Amino acid sequence: MRFGRDGSAPGEVNGVRLTARRRAVLAALAALPGPASAHAVHRRVRADGERIGLTGVYRLLAILADAGLAGVTKDGGGRHLFHLRDDSSHDHHLLCAGCGRAERVDAGCVLGWAESSAAAHGFRDVSVSIVLSGLCAGCGRTAEPGRSR
Ligand SMILES: [Zn+2]
Repeated sequence: MRFGRDGSAPGEVNGVRLTARRRAVLAALAALPGPASAHAVHRRVRADGERIGLTGVYRLLAILADAGLAGVTKDGGGRHLFHLRDDSSHDHHLLCAGCGRAERVDAGCVLGWAESSAAAHGFRDVSVSIVLSGLCAGCGRTAEPGRSR
């Protein structure tokens, strides 16, 4: 696991620091097709190699939902379902794998492509979740080329 390095600004989105675990939960939400139960998110996070309990996933989902990064809906049985927040403000994020810094990115052109692609196949009410991960300018400068992190 990689946490923030000294001297780098911690990544915050809506006042929430994106720790490795929170990023793992966001990545799981992005990878799951549509709204998912906490159990499904938990399975996905575990499959991605994060060692975390179901209670921890619930807590992280609550934090992310409070911050507006995750949306919550309920299914017919009143079970909470979570999804990566994708509202009309088009908040999509660029995440640094080095320090956890997060930047909002405008994904308007991708959303346009998604809508026309979906429409071409007769799909509607399609949700799009975009998380781009890489190294921010600061981490890219300090990382030596070719050296594994
Ligand atoms: Zn960084």
